[in-house]
Amino acid sequence: MAAILIAEDEPRIAAFVSKGLTANGFSTVVVDNGVDAAALARDDEFALLILDLGLPGKNGMSVLAEIRQRGERMPVLILTARGEIDATIAGFETGADDYMTKPFRFEELLARVRARLRGDRFEEPTLLRAGDIVLDLRTRRVTSAGRTVELTAREFALAETFLRHPDQVLSRQQLLSAVWGYDFDPGSNVVDVYVRYLRRKLGASVIETIRNMGYRLPVGTPPE
Ligand code: CA
Repeated sequence: MAAILIAEDEPRIAAFVSKGLTANGFSTVVVDNGVDAAALARDDEFALLILDLGLPGKNGMSVLAEIRQRGERMPVLILTARGEIDATIAGFETGADDYMTKPFRFEELLARVRARLRGDRFEEPTLLRAGDIVLDLRTRRVTSAGRTVELTAREFALAETFLRHPDQVLSRQQLLSAVWGYDFDPGSNVVDVYVRYLRRKLGASVIETIRNMGYRLPVGTPPE
């Protein structure tokens, strides 16, 4: 099991990332300051570092410079706030491998973590299919039975989540954290609203309601 070091001083975000990664089979260690991050980030302990740029003690850029200078080669995914584009570019020059802008969706973070851990040889599939529906992750195009469907960014993200988990019952809470991230009120009915939008655009039977549990994208029986 690959261990991931998470350096993030906002407890809510650190918990969101750590819980999600743990649920997907990773072991995680969370530190809330740059001094501990730099001390713990060693290749023989961790397969990947998720590094917030704005950390107390020692900022993310100094942590990155320090561990690269020491010769650690683990992939580093930096977390940046909106408006930190300059810092993000500097991060790449210092040896970061990828970055995520806050707020981000967990599914997106997970895809990047997996891609980094597999190395550059592996490419994420760009087409997701279920029944008549095809999502192209690169062009963000969606077709249903060959016909192009216009989806908003949120609708696309929700459809993507369903297509990545065909036949699984997904609770509202799972969908909220996958699509809306940690910045969302768990009491909100936004999931139900967006499921309705998707049904309207992709067909009423595309997503099933599973009473008291959530929603499911049935893939049906494969053709003989
Ligand atoms: Ca921070």
